[in-house]
Amino acid sequence: MSSRPLITFWGTRGSIATPGRSTEKYGGNTSCVNVVWENRHFIFDAGTGIRGLGVEIMAGSPTASKTEINLLLSHTHWDHIQGMPFFQPAYSPRFRLNIWGQEKRDVMLESVLSGQMDSNYFPVPMSALGSDLAVHPISAETIRTQSSVQVDGVKVSFQEMDHPGGSIAFRLEKDGTRLVYATDNELNRQFDADGNPFPDSEIGKAYFEFIRGADLLIADGQYTDEEYRSKVGWGHTSVSLLSRIAHKAGVKHLAVYHHDPMHTDSFLDSLSSEFIKRYKESTPSMEILWAREGLTLQL
Ligand SMILES: [Zn+2]
Ligand SMILES: [Zn+2]
Repeated sequence: MSSRPLITFWGTRGSIATPGRSTEKYGGNTSCVNVVWENRHFIFDAGTGIRGLGVEIMAGSPTASKTEINLLLSHTHWDHIQGMPFFQPAYSPRFRLNIWGQEKRDVMLESVLSGQMDSNYFPVPMSALGSDLAVHPISAETIRTQSSVQVDGVKVSFQEMDHPGGSIAFRLEKDGTRLVYATDNELNRQFDADGNPFPDSEIGKAYFEFIRGADLLIADGQYTDEEYRSKVGWGHTSVSLLSRIAHKAGVKHLAVYHHDPMHTDSFLDSLSSEFIKRYKESTPSMEILWAREGLTLQL
């Protein structure tokens, strides 16, 4: 394991798992990214991609000592939690599982997670999870005041985003390296077409500062401009606006993420080639890539 972050995409699809021959390249599993940093796992979201990650962690972790895992949930829509009951380390006493996520005013994070393991939906209750499990609710106050916490030597900050029911972005920082995970976010309602936050958008202005200078930004770019027009209010962003904002904020590498279930490999190939070329030739240049299952990046 490295002191520089190693990032692996285990699920890149938005909304619903989309397996099949037309999605083999970018993948059909829903949201899940594993970051290994300071010998610790920081897992963003527990979509269906977390199942395979769990199998790998089980095989690669020592049996004699406890392995710490931090699971950071952007929000609890199905495509971000549905793999959780299939995450093998959650059942094993060999692991300590710290789950971080937003606490809603009237709904406890823990009750949302145990709700999907109710016998109406799943055969095994949450009480059967044999790991050393700790749920760390992030309060609205913590997010609003933009405070941060230290998790295993890495500074973790939070930012509220524009999404039905809410969603939070996470920023991991250590020794000047910054990584932001920001999915399920409707930037089109917070920014103008040139990539400037609207003057009255507190969320937009704060988001711009949150991603400024990031070495890697993993972000929701689910729609084309044309698709976005009929999906206003659905909580997702057009890739053209996302890339404009990221470039303006000095992001070094942008990973477009949370692909639409209707976007086949060939569609994403042609969409991505246009943007990759545009930002490679821009000043300063920005590397933009389309997240795909199995891709590993080292910062
Ligand atoms: Zn989603
Ligand atoms: Zn969502």
